Amino acid sequence: MGNVDFALTVEDLTVSFDGFKAIDNLALYIDKNELRVIIGPNGAGKTTLLDLICGKTRASAGSIKFKDEEIIGLPEHVRVRRGIGRKFQTPSIYENLSVFQNLEVSYPSGRSVFGALAFKCTEEVRSRIEAVAAEIGLPDKLETEAGLLSHGQKQWLEIGMLLMQEPELLMLDEPIAGMSAKERDLTAELLHRICKNRSVIVIEHDMDFVKKIAHKVTVMHQGKILAEGSMEKVQADPKVIDVYLGH
Ligand code: ADP
Repeated sequence: MGNVDFALTVEDLTVSFDGFKAIDNLALYIDKNELRVIIGPNGAGKTTLLDLICGKTRASAGSIKFKDEEIIGLPEHVRVRRGIGRKFQTPSIYENLSVFQNLEVSYPSGRSVFGALAFKCTEEVRSRIEAVAAEIGLPDKLETEAGLLSHGQKQWLEIGMLLMQEPELLMLDEPIAGMSAKERDLTAELLHRICKNRSVIVIEHDMDFVKKIAHKVTVMHQGKILAEGSMEKVQADPKVIDVYLGH
C-alpha cells in the first residue's frame, strides 16, 4: 500500500532471534508531522522496532517504506542520509567541545571530529547551527563546553546534533529519563516544535508525559500492536489495562 501521505509505512514486519519473534507481522503508519508515542511492557519489542526502522537490526521479513520508498535493505548510514534520525538513551555528545562545535561536527559533510575543528565554518553552517541552537533552547550556550551543561541540556544538544542532519523522521528512546520536572516540560515543548515540520516517534513509560506530547499512542505487546489511538482511547482499553497500565 504505497501512500505518500505517510512519512513511514511499515507492513508485515517480522524479526526472529533464534526462532523467537521479537516483532511479529507488525504494521505501523506514521503521518507527516505526527508525534507518535510507543508504549508497552518491557520486552514488548519497542526498541527492536526502532532498531529495525533505523537499520541497526535487519528484518527477517516485511516492508519499511520511508516517504514511499522501500528502505528495508538499506544500511543504517544510508537511512540517516535519507532523513531518519535516532537518539539512543545514552548521550553521545563530545563533552570537551563547545555546544557550537558539537553542532558543527554533526553537519552532514562526512568530516571527522578532528577535521571539522580544523575546518573554517561557512556562513551556511553557522546559520544552521544558530537555528538549531534556538530550536533546542540553547541559543545563549553556544560557547559553553558541553560537559558543563545540565543533564537535560545535554539531551537537547544531542537532539540538536541529530537536527543538524535535517531528519524528516526522528526517533527518541525515553527522552526525559533522569530529567527534572522543569526539563520535562521544556522537552515536551521542544518535541512539539520539532514535529511542526518532521515526524517523531518516541518510546516512553511516563504516562503524564505521554499525555502531554502524543498525537497518537501505539501499545505494543509480545511483538505485536495491542491497541492504537488517542491516549484516552488506549488507556480505557481493557486489554491495555490488563497487560500494561493496570500494573
Ligand atoms: P522493549 O524495548 O519493548 O523493552 P525489546 O525490543 O528490547 O523490548 O525486546 C523485545 C524482545 O526481543 C525481548 O524478549 C528481548 O529479549 C528480545 N531481543 C531483542 N534484541 C535481541 C537480540 N539481539 N537477540 C536476542 N533477543 C533479542
